[in-house]
Amino acid sequence: MSVIEVRNLHKNYGSLQAVDGVDLTIERGEIFAILGPNGAGKTTTVEILEGFRTRNSGEVKVLDFDPQFKGKGARDFRDRIGIVLQATSDAGDLTVAETIHHYAGYYSDPRDANEVIEAIGLGDKKKELVHTLSGGQRRRLDVGLGIVGNPELLFLDEPTTGFDPEARHDFWDLIRGLRDLGTTIVLTTHYLEEAEALADRVAVINRGKILEIGTPANLGDRATSLARVQWESAGIMHEQFTDKPTAAIAKLMHEFDEEIPKLTVSRATLEDIYLKMIEEER
Ligand code: ATP
Repeated sequence: MSVIEVRNLHKNYGSLQAVDGVDLTIERGEIFAILGPNGAGKTTTVEILEGFRTRNSGEVKVLDFDPQFKGKGARDFRDRIGIVLQATSDAGDLTVAETIHHYAGYYSDPRDANEVIEAIGLGDKKKELVHTLSGGQRRRLDVGLGIVGNPELLFLDEPTTGFDPEARHDFWDLIRGLRDLGTTIVLTTHYLEEAEALADRVAVINRGKILEIGTPANLGDRATSLARVQWESAGIMHEQFTDKPTAAIAKLMHEFDEEIPKLTVSRATLEDIYLKMIEEER
């Protein structure tokens, strides 16, 4: 069952076509990542889905609701979605625990505030004032505010900016846990390894248009791209691109009677494929 349906979405700012005919279907329970360079139209698209921006044309249904519609039912819509915006909001003079408890009060069926504080790894900071937190800790609090309402659909706009590697991995576990509970997650990120680690499907967007939608493993020609075999011989690194890396290594084993020095076999990463797609558009 689809949670988000977008058909032929257009949004312009004056003469700039920021979103230029986007079609999207996002299914319940999937993590869907939107990738694209700065200015591609990701935030504009996501904010239209969240109901923060109006569109010029196209059809948009989010949880069977038109997010642009502000009448009766709009509050119900807000109650069912969670949002982590790109910029952190000002929290005033409250502690971490007070902030989470306060936001929980806006929702009809919130998660337990203490559980949320533990889930975002701020248990030992709950009595600290928000303005004393580090940048990465602030960002975790933002994530906590996005999930405290127990949303069916969660929007994450560059959620892990400023996270240290360990916090990023903890965050990925948290997001996977939410997906396992049935939450649908729409994620924009510039970290390709984040999309690879989390997303069931990704859309690559450039200049307001979707270039491709696919799984991280199959995007572009990734699934069929050649393997790169690298090794060292006489102090020089060599490389070979092949669709039969096992045969290439078997041949190398005949040349070396011991370990093949500095042997690696690799395939195109999601980042390689993404950069190639964006370059081809230039
Ligand atoms: P980033 O990765 O940098 O966050 P993005 O893909 O989210 O970029 P958007 O913020 O959607 O991109 O912007 C798309 C285009 O629309 C950009 O060229 C931007 O300058 C322009 N734009 C965005 N918001 C406005 C606005 N309120 N008024 C005018 N132009 C805007």
